[in-house]
Amino acid sequence: MLTDSDKDIKTASELIRSGEVVGIPTETVYGLGADALNADAVKKIFAAKGRPADNPLIVHIYNLEQSERLAVNIPELFFKLAEKFWPGPLTMIVPKNKIIPDETSGGLDTVGIRMPSHRVMRELIRLSFPIAAPSANRSGYPSPTSAEHVMQDMNGKISAVIDGGISRFGVESTVISFDNADTVRILRPGSVTERELSEVAENVIIDDAILNDIANDRAAPSPGMKYKHYSPEADVKIIEGSFDEFAGYADSLKKDGLYCLIFDNDDKSKLPCSFMTYGNDSDTQAHSLFSRLRELDKAGAKEILVRSPQKDGVGLAVYNRLLRAAGFEVIKL
Ligand code: AMP
Ligand code: MG
Repeated sequence: MLTDSDKDIKTASELIRSGEVVGIPTETVYGLGADALNADAVKKIFAAKGRPADNPLIVHIYNLEQSERLAVNIPELFFKLAEKFWPGPLTMIVPKNKIIPDETSGGLDTVGIRMPSHRVMRELIRLSFPIAAPSANRSGYPSPTSAEHVMQDMNGKISAVIDGGISRFGVESTVISFDNADTVRILRPGSVTERELSEVAENVIIDDAILNDIANDRAAPSPGMKYKHYSPEADVKIIEGSFDEFAGYADSLKKDGLYCLIFDNDDKSKLPCSFMTYGNDSDTQAHSLFSRLRELDKAGAKEILVRSPQKDGVGLAVYNRLLRAAGFEVIKL
């Protein structure tokens, strides 16, 4: 484990430049970083995660000029969005420059680019541009929001992890593509919301796959949409309805290993099962969701009933992660 000191960041950047994989704190979740232009290094990321080879990696930049080294035919709207949201949790998909190996782009002719804001990640990119980095979880499991989470999943599989504390946002970046000159399509919701995007782009489309299961659909606009994701070992179900209905449903199920994930202000005295809370507002829920799912596994949960979050703003990101964790199992009471 490395610290976030300048000396340790330099050590990490040397590891990356020599083709190794390092766990890195970012403002979204922890990432697994490697040299985006080194196919062998990138393959180590896929091996460490057990990630399907057709699921592309986001490539991270330090300044806007670097996007021109990674991409071609970049639309004007990209730069307008960059001005407003970078550095920050927005990933934009554009046609890739040939210097990006197929291993990094999952065989696609596009590349997802992001300029992160986290001090440690920024310094690492400055020293070792360009860095390809997916979330640092084993494939399919909830994303890591602390260095400990990365160690749990990656111990022995990667060269080092930098401990930069708890991730600020707690959900991965908003991923968008461009349908035309003034239309963006949200492929993965995140902390940059539909409303914020529409302050810059004339049209913002929320892709169907954000709220609907397109498993095994080859036409997925983003390969990550096809795969099981964010799932703890326990079986997750999303429960829609009032808290009383939720408590009644939990009571009817009552069994060993049943846990409830509820809001902070719910009336816990009425609850018939063991529980954890994940906040009241969307920002707090985004911040704590993945960590709670991991804690519930640790606590021995077999089945988790989750109170459905709000679905607008950042809440859409929370709901999208939960939907996938639950394999789209939603119970409406
Ligand atoms: P992660 O690296 O774990 O944050 O996941 C990155 C997400 O962005 C995955 O769902 C990828 O499928 C998606 N993504 C990355 N690059 C592209 C691309 N070029 N085209 C479409 N989706 C992409
Ligand atoms: Mg991921």
